[in-house]
Amino acid sequence: MCGIIGYVGRNNCMPIIFDMLKRLEYRGYDSAGISVISDSNLYLMKDKGTVDALRSVVEFVDCSIGIGHTRWATCGAPLKHNAHPFLDCKKELALAHNGIIENYRELKDGLMREGHVFSSETDSEVIVHLIEKYYTGSNLIEAVRTALGQVRGSYAIVVLDRRNKKIVGARHESPLVLGIGKNEIFLSSDIPGFLRHTNKVVYLNDNEMVEISHGGYSVYDFSGHTLQKEVKEIQWTIEDAEKGGFEHYMLKEIYEIPRAVQDTLRSRVDASILEIDFNDFERILLIGCGTSYHAALYGKYLFENLLKVPTHAEISSEVRNSTLAMSDTLAFFITQSGETADTLAAARNLRRLGATTCAITNVVGSSITRETDAVFYTHAGPEISVAATKTFVSQITALYMLAASVGEVRGEISASVKTDLRNALRVLPSELQKVLDNAEPVKNVSRELAKYENAFYIGRGYNYPIALEGALKLKEISYIHAEGYPAGELKHGPLALLCEKVPVVAIATYDELYPKMIGNIAEVKARNSPVILFSTENHPEANELADFVVEIPENHQIITPAITVTALQLMAYYVAKERNCPIDKPRNLAKSVTVE
Ligand code: GLU
Repeated sequence: MCGIIGYVGRNNCMPIIFDMLKRLEYRGYDSAGISVISDSNLYLMKDKGTVDALRSVVEFVDCSIGIGHTRWATCGAPLKHNAHPFLDCKKELALAHNGIIENYRELKDGLMREGHVFSSETDSEVIVHLIEKYYTGSNLIEAVRTALGQVRGSYAIVVLDRRNKKIVGARHESPLVLGIGKNEIFLSSDIPGFLRHTNKVVYLNDNEMVEISHGGYSVYDFSGHTLQKEVKEIQWTIEDAEKGGFEHYMLKEIYEIPRAVQDTLRSRVDASILEIDFNDFERILLIGCGTSYHAALYGKYLFENLLKVPTHAEISSEVRNSTLAMSDTLAFFITQSGETADTLAAARNLRRLGATTCAITNVVGSSITRETDAVFYTHAGPEISVAATKTFVSQITALYMLAASVGEVRGEISASVKTDLRNALRVLPSELQKVLDNAEPVKNVSRELAKYENAFYIGRGYNYPIALEGALKLKEISYIHAEGYPAGELKHGPLALLCEKVPVVAIATYDELYPKMIGNIAEVKARNSPVILFSTENHPEANELADFVVEIPENHQIITPAITVTALQLMAYYVAKERNCPIDKPRNLAKSVTVE
């Protein structure tokens, strides 16, 4: 999920390899490592922490071929022995991997029975042992191909072969590009890795492999056929390249949502493997701050609906001083970074009061994972933009999976609901992609919304937390004052503010509350507020009440909110852009709030 590199070329290339890793630092990481061949010896240097920590060791090795890795841990804590690269048993091969291997447990068990010895808890290490199993010493590309045939999941890999002084790279649902220099060849997760050295690029597609050596490079498909690939010249600056051609990290991260959801689904959140008795609770608490609190509130509707257990969502800073006995309580703490001070304090307090505590976080080994009884990971990858986007959608994806799996343990979820949910989740990434591929309607309404200084967002049920999150995104990055409300609450106060100067963003996707939403939109229209409606494609009944409409794909009513919120994030982005705001770094805000 973070960065990998490969290099073959000049003598004494350690500074280049080191610089390439530094160039990938912006992607976020927790450990780093390098493996090189020097005088036919294979060297391995790795540790948790920064790339800089490797500087002192790398200066002494003279080499012309090597691989490197920055790790964003998804499996195994960010510790030295889990850092990449990994070696095979014979120490002939070194491997670095980005991504997630779904079936690594089965593969690892099999390999251990065959005598392979593992040095880490990662999923990645199985790949190098599998390759070792098939490698006879002459055809590395074939051995990698056979090994990858057994692997399920996402990966970009680089494998360094000591004896033959070559590197094989391969990708499947994780990025890898080839850079062609003068007498040197680069492999990198993205272009900034080598842009200082060359702007000639060969884009590898999914299910393609490449072999690089001092003799040149060859690209193959996964069936072993040689491919002729076009070399493209790019004209980007390093900064453009880091954003993958997007103008801002926020937009890049919104476009990563289908991928992030896919990876979170792939990780198979599974409650049955935990030593927690999920039948033993009278109530559930979901706790978070900001965007994570909105995920918690969404979880409340989900858990009550699917698990039939009283569930409450709480703001971390409000429960951290609670004094209620909690031995009947299962508490989930949601924090992207795992370092949010208020959420950590809340977790400590609730544990002290007797609650069973679980963390939902994006960062393996973060502080929250040490403060709770169990941990569930979202697999969104690093998020650089201050405004959270892909991590929110991953959080709610993890909550679906968690609710389904706890529901199964408690015997609350019928087979048919489970099948419906599973089918709905399967198509979710492609529906999210559809929204992103057709952003025009969102851009159009954004130009309208950008003209105002105040806005309301309204929704009911599952769409109420989505309204809150939509409003939060808008205020964070466009500085328009926005408030999210349960649609039924308007008449209890806020209706007094509605007029032609205050638009209302109404979420009326199809569910059993849809008729009531239509009533609320009519109430709004009667006060002359412009209405921007988010409705579902198959149910345009409310559209005629609205001034502007964005139709989104219709999924299961529990899951559609993940699609709606993606469209709302995109709208906030385009509004902020229209108003020339500093989108990735909004004033007064920090990415990870580690103060109370
Ligand atoms: N899943 C691998 C690990 O946890 C690779 C992580 C990455 O993409 O950096 O080590």
